[in-house]
Order: sequence, then structure tokens, then C-alpha cells
Amino acid sequence: MNMDINLIEKLVRDVVEEINLDKVVKEGQLTKACFGVFETMDAAVEASYTAQKKLLASPMKKREAYVQVIRDVVLKKENLEMLSKLTVEETGMGNYEHKVIKNRLAAEKTPGTEDLTTHALTGDDGLTLEEYCPFGVVGAVTPTTNPTETIISNGISMIAGGNTVVFSPHPRAKKVSIKLIQMINKALEEVGAPKNLITTVREPSIENTNIMMNHPKINVLVATGGPGIVKMVMSTGKKAIGAGAGNPPVVVDETVDMEKAAIDIVKGCSFDNNLPCIAEKEVIAVDHIADYLIHYMKENGAYELNDPSDIQKLMALVMNDKGGPKTNFVGKSAVHILKELGITVGSDIKVIIMETEKDHPFVIEELMMPILPIVRAKDVDEAIDIAYEAEKGNRHTAMMHSKNVDKLTKMAKLLQTTIFVKNAPSYAGIGVGGEGCTTFTIAGPTGEGLTTAKSFCRKRRCVMTEALHIR
Ligand code: NAD
Repeated sequence: MNMDINLIEKLVRDVVEEINLDKVVKEGQLTKACFGVFETMDAAVEASYTAQKKLLASPMKKREAYVQVIRDVVLKKENLEMLSKLTVEETGMGNYEHKVIKNRLAAEKTPGTEDLTTHALTGDDGLTLEEYCPFGVVGAVTPTTNPTETIISNGISMIAGGNTVVFSPHPRAKKVSIKLIQMINKALEEVGAPKNLITTVREPSIENTNIMMNHPKINVLVATGGPGIVKMVMSTGKKAIGAGAGNPPVVVDETVDMEKAAIDIVKGCSFDNNLPCIAEKEVIAVDHIADYLIHYMKENGAYELNDPSDIQKLMALVMNDKGGPKTNFVGKSAVHILKELGITVGSDIKVIIMETEKDHPFVIEELMMPILPIVRAKDVDEAIDIAYEAEKGNRHTAMMHSKNVDKLTKMAKLLQTTIFVKNAPSYAGIGVGGEGCTTFTIAGPTGEGLTTAKSFCRKRRCVMTEALHIR
């Protein structure tokens, strides 16, 4: 009976604490540290600096336990659902069910401390160890397209690597980012972890991001976003990891099961309403199978626009004066976009397709909405060349549906993308239905590739001579 009363009291305390957290954040009354959320960027960095010293002094076993706490707090059903719902509400982008999959993926498949493999060299001169050690305090800029997924995955990797992290979330995703950071810190504090392993500011802004990037106590910068922010972190003079834009092409040749290719493409392109940087953005199909491919795509969730004036109207609807995507259409569903165009379709429609030339703006621009242009090529070699141009040297992600190993190899070698997916939806490349771990920070420009704990570490050497060589 006593236990029940204690339990009820604890639950009430938790609920009150939760309500108060929301209240202070909403009313802007947050004046001091509150589960990692600070009034100024300077305070957020200082707290992170102090926390990192404590983390460095903690045993590896504890570090792994903290990583497990992040996984557990995110994977709690009600948290997973709340974070996914809040993200869609706040950003107005994406699909709730797919956000649940992405958040779960980030929590389950981001590697922890096991990623930090030690390299040992022994010989007559003794023992030399090469180990992955923390940089210190990481400054991480996160995108609006995967706001929570990036914080979860970066948080796990960076803490596993022995770093603490100051996040600079996208202002349009600040509420959900702050909520997640507070939930993680609260859970970490409950198991006795150092306070403020993950911090941020109450009002994320470009100004605060600039303060973070130039703060002397930030040792390494990580930018997940468009080309602007990647260029900015790379020009600070600090060590920078840049995970930039993509525009993934898909090549389809005559050697595959056309229905499977069509299904894979529709699934990958419509995942989270095309927000992922790895998602299919244009298809280049060999001419004599293009009609079959389009037929099967239409049978499996694609709506085709045939009339050039409709395609023109769609361009005017979703693209801005500068030729980029209009923010209020990024991450919207095909049903919504078609409705705005005056076309009503059922919820089975996931992707809008149309035939275009290879230099059409829908091919060239990274739209991040389920609009998928299809370009015809006379043969697979021409298709690969068109894909190369469409990828624009991002070297990010590409897909190919082919059974011809020579052509698969040719495309992989020519495009030099960080991720190359063969005969599957794009998301197989980040561990959904494909082998391998996950990340939401795919660092093409700076070369770390699919980032894991060791990407956020320095390699250091420890040498002992004349002893500890036991062979
Ligand atoms: P974005 O570039 O608009 O914003 C990304 C982050 O950078 C945000 O936190 C934003 O506030 C900040 N930022 C942007 N310009 C800034 C400036 N001038 N000063 C200070 N901060 C600035 O990108 P987004 O729309 O949020 O995300 C979509 C883009 O990110 C796409 O291009 C997508 O391909 C890319 N992306 C890449 C990866 C990857 O792993 N390579 C992952 C997700 C998204």
C-alpha cells in the first residue's frame, strides 16, 4: 500500500515537472539552466564544456549506459509518438508514421561505444595503441527536415565518442528540439550522468548559431543542412564536418523486374514526403522500358501529369522566384500538392510523376516534396550520364535498378556518391531493409560519409616501449 502511495506521489511529481517545463518554455520565462536549455549560447557552451570534463572522467561502461538512456527515452512508445507528432505539427512537413520509423531507426541503429575500435601494434619495440578520443565540445547545427532524428543520432554518436554537444536547431523546429533535449537530459540526470551532456538555447536563431560557431570552447562543428550552412562551418577555421544537400537520381535499365523497381521508387520517393536528403528526386529510364515503368508506378501510388500546362502550373505552385522550392510545399504529401493544383485524389496516391527533359527545374532542383520527374534516355550509358549531371557533384546518394553488374559498377564509379543503392528504395542505404547502421548526418563534402561515433573523434597514439609485447 505504502509503495503505491510513493509511486503515485512520484508520478504526480513527474507530471507537475513536465507541465512546468512546458510552461516556462512557452511563456519565455526560462532564465536559468533547465535540463540543458539555456538563455544564452555562451551559457550553453560553458555548461557543455564543464559536462565534457566530467564525461571524460567517467568509465566507458558509464558512457555506454548514457547512450542506452538516450535510446530508451526515445523508444518509449509515448515519447516516440509525441516527438513524431510534434515535429509534423511544428514544421508542417513530413508524415507522422514515417517520422515514427525514422526516430526509432535513429535510436535503435546508431552505433554506440562499440564503434570505437582500438588499433594495437606490437613488436620488439613494445606496444602502440591508436584510439578514438573525443574532440571535446561539439557544436551541431540540425535541419528542419529531420530535426529529432538528427539530435537523437548525433547525440548518441557524439556522447559515445566522449564529447558533449551544443545543438543549434533549426528555428522552425525549436519547440520539438528543445522538448527532446530536455527529455534526454532529464533521463540522463536521473541515472546520475553529468548535467548538460546535450545543451541548446531557448531561442535558436542564426545569430546564436554564429555565436556557437565562433565560440573558442567549441572544438568541432557539425552541420547537417543545405549548402549555405555547410560552407559556413567550413570557413570558420575549426575542424568541420559538413553533411550537405543531395539530389539523388535513380537510373532504371531494361534488365530488372519493372514492377519491383516501380514499387521501390514510389516507396523511397514518398518516404516522409520526400524530406530525406537520400530520397529519390528524379528518375532516368531507358527509353524502351520507360512506358512499362510509368505503368507500374501508376499502379502503385503514382499520379501522372500529362498535360504540359498542368506541369507548368505545378511549377508555379511549388517553386519560388529564385527557382528553389517554396518552403510551404516542402515535405507536403502528393494528395495535398495535387489538391492545391485543383486535382482531388485518394490517399493511395503517394507521388506525382511527369515526363520532362533532363534540364527541367524539377530534375535540377532538390525539391524535397514527392514530385518525381522522369527523363528518357536512349540507353543505359546515356541514363548514367544524365544521372551524373542531375546529381550536380554533390556526391551524396544515387540509386540504380539493374542486374547488369558492369553498368552498376560504372554508375557507382562515375557518380562517386557516399551512398549507392542497388535494386531497393533509397532508405535501404540508411539501414531500413538494408544492412548497416544508420545516421542522419551523411557527410559527403568533408568525407566522413555515414557518420558514427568515430567520426566525431580524434585518433590519438599511446606508445609504450620495451614492454607489454608478449608474443
Ligand atoms: P537549411 O540549410 O535551411 O538549415 C539547416 C540548419 O542550418 C538550420 O539549423 C538553419 O537554422 C541553419 N542555417 C541555415 N543557414 C544559416 C545561416 N546563414 N546562418 C546560421 N545558420 C544557418 O536546411 P534545411 O531546410 O533545414 O534542411 C534541408 C537541407 O539539408 C537539404 O538540402 C538536405 O539535403 C540537407 N540535409 C542533408 C543531410 C545529410 O546528411 N547530408 C541530412 C539532412 C538534410
